[in-house]
Amino acid sequence: MALVQIENVSKTYQTGEVQVTALHDVTLSIDEASFVTLVGPSGSGKTTMLNLIGCLDKPTKGKIFVGKEQVDAFDRRQRAAFRGSTLGFIFQAFNLFHVLTTYENVEYPLVMIKNESISKRKEMVLKVLESVGMLDQKDKFPDQLSGGQKQRVAVARALVTRPKLVMADEPTANLDKKSAVNVIRLMRAMRDEFKTTFIFSTHDPGVMEEAEVIHALEDGRLLDPKHSPTFVQEEKK
Ligand code: ADP
Ligand code: MG
Repeated sequence: MALVQIENVSKTYQTGEVQVTALHDVTLSIDEASFVTLVGPSGSGKTTMLNLIGCLDKPTKGKIFVGKEQVDAFDRRQRAAFRGSTLGFIFQAFNLFHVLTTYENVEYPLVMIKNESISKRKEMVLKVLESVGMLDQKDKFPDQLSGGQKQRVAVARALVTRPKLVMADEPTANLDKKSAVNVIRLMRAMRDEFKTTFIFSTHDPGVMEEAEVIHALEDGRLLDPKHSPTFVQEEKK
């Protein structure tokens, strides 16, 4: 079943007199519990696409459905509420709070968004830290962790609210090759465990090898999978 449906979506940015069309008439369907990789060179529209699905911005044209909700019709407040209830985010630069421990970083969305009781919070945080293999690091601060470990914490933080959909914009860009592959494998394991749908972008060939479903963008257009750019086909060999 489709969790995300993108119908004839275009996005044009207006900066002063200059217009840039970052997405041209994109139609795409993403299944529930799938593990989706968006690829394409810099400037091809990956971040724009993730921002639209992630309700951080609105399309200029077209419709976007996430579950039963038509999210392009949401106002700013509805988008924020929907992000909190249904979506999780993982960032390239980890975006952890340096003054909070691993445990506290993961607990943060439960305090801010879900308003859960202390005992329920504890149960949820410990469970997800165990799932990402970071339980033994729960009292460490981000500066005491490696890049790969920080991104594990960020994965736990994205999942702790049990979102339907997690979005990650180049989550491995700041990691060495081995840690990058490990983080992608962790995300896939989390999809298996929690049935969370993941959509993440990358232009890292090593990461593409771990992909299940690849959608390629070029100049804001989605390429037909049968005519994927040579860089994807070569990397998948
Ligand atoms: P990618 O993530 O694949 O590098 P982006 O979605 O960031 O691609 O960008 C696609 C195009 O849209 C680029 O030409 C970029 O310069 C432009 N763009 C992205 N965000 C903005 C913005 N906020 N204002 C104006 N132009 C933007
Ligand atoms: Mg980008």
